[in-house]
This record gives sequence, C-alpha cells and structure tokens, in this order.
Amino acid sequence: MSDRGEELSASLGAVRERIRRACEESGRSEEEVTLVVVTKFFPAADAVHLIDLGVRDLGENRDQEASAKVAELGELVAPELWSQTRMHFIGQVQTKKARSVARYADVVQSVDRPKLVRALDRAVGAAVEAGERSAPLDVTVQLDLEEGERTGRGGIAPSEAPELADLVAGTEHLRLRGVMAVAPPDLDADGRRKAFERIAASARQIRGAHPDADWVSAGMSGDLEDAIAVGATHLRVGSAILGSRQSHR
Ligand SMILES: *Cc1c(COP(=O)(O)O)cnc(C)c1O
Repeated sequence: MSDRGEELSASLGAVRERIRRACEESGRSEEEVTLVVVTKFFPAADAVHLIDLGVRDLGENRDQEASAKVAELGELVAPELWSQTRMHFIGQVQTKKARSVARYADVVQSVDRPKLVRALDRAVGAAVEAGERSAPLDVTVQLDLEEGERTGRGGIAPSEAPELADLVAGTEHLRLRGVMAVAPPDLDADGRRKAFERIAASARQIRGAHPDADWVSAGMSGDLEDAIAVGATHLRVGSAILGSRQSHR
C-alpha cells in the first residue's frame, strides 16, 4: 500500500475504534451506525483508498467537486465495488444545481426548504426519464439548531421540520429517511449534549409521523461520541480520517 494508503488505513482504524467504544458505552450495536467519510477537498485517489479499506459511504458538499470526483471514481473503482458505494450530498444545494446532484447522489442529507424539495423531486424524475438513475433519492431534512443566527450552514428550524418532512414524504421521487444536523461549534460538553438531545427529539417527532424515517445523521470528527450516545445512525467524518485541509499537500 502507498504511504497515503497506510496513513488513511491508520486514521480510519482509529475512528472505527472510537465508534466501537462509543457504541459499547451506550449499549448500541455497531451495525446501527453508518460511517460516512467526507472526502471534500481531497482527491479521488483518497476515496479509492477508502473504498479499498471497506468504506461504502462517501460525503461531499459541493456539486462541482462532487460531480467531477464521481466521474473519476466511476473510472477508477471496480464496477461491483462502485455499485455498492453510496454518495451522500451533505452541503447546501442551490436549486439550480438540483438537476446535476440528481445524476450522481444516492442521498441528499441537506434538504432544508420546500423549493428545494420540489426542485429535487423534478430533477430526480428527469434523471430517471433520461436513464441516468433508477432509484429514488434518499433524503434527510437538515435541522438548523441556531435558528435565525444566519450561520450560512443551512437547515430549517426544528419547529418547521415536520411540515417539510411531510412535503418530502408526499413526493414521487424522494424517499424521506430522517434528519441531519450539524451541532453548533464551540459548545462546552454540556451544551453539546443538549444540542444532540434536541436533534434526537426532532428525529423522534418526525419518526412518529413517518416510521420508516429512522436516520439520525449527526456527529462529526470532534463529537461523534455524543452523537452515538443519543442514537445517531449516520456519522459524517472528514478531518479525523483525511486530515485537515491545510496540512494536506
Ligand atoms: C465537512 C463536513 C463534515 C465533516 O466534518 P469534520 O469535522 O471534518 O469531520 C460533516 N458534516 C458536514 C455538513 C460537513 O460540511
């Protein structure tokens, strides 16, 4: 294996060990938790190493970078492995990019407004029509825990999320899977726990109306243990595995 392959193997192993331990501490099965490795800012070659190491869920947050990387990976990864790899779009989606994202995303985690729901539904319908995809698009509703603070990270207020979830569930081409949230940065341990409890409460509320929508995507490099403790089913981990953007190259 190349040096970079060795490096990624070690950091991925360390994150998997953190997940194993956190699951053990909260009495959960590791099988309930999907690790989405966020490869934004890093080259397709890194994603190839990760797929070789058993990663099957990749996360990207910008359409331009994601669509180029997906095209490269389609060439670089063996077809039977590539067909098992899911691409999660986790960044803000401009409505005009919906058609592009619908070509390659298996999941859009960052659905946060009615206009985007309608645009994605139409875009997936058009992509199916054009033979570019067959499956519906899995979607989570992104919660904004810092309502009104204009963080630019996107998301909908938890109080408005159930209505948006209903809208997703009523579309033809989108499948409501649950919720996603980014815990506000710079919280102390107590504040972080409270933030994750709010995410879990919102997730329960939406699951009450839509029992199949049982995904809770929460937890990143710095806080995945807190997320696992409140029942996260999907972790989105970038820097703890790939390194920080600055130190790379
Ligand atoms: C970049 C990103 C992540 C990964 O964050 P790390 O702290 O690098 O693990 C997770 N979620 C979203 C929405 C992101 O944009």
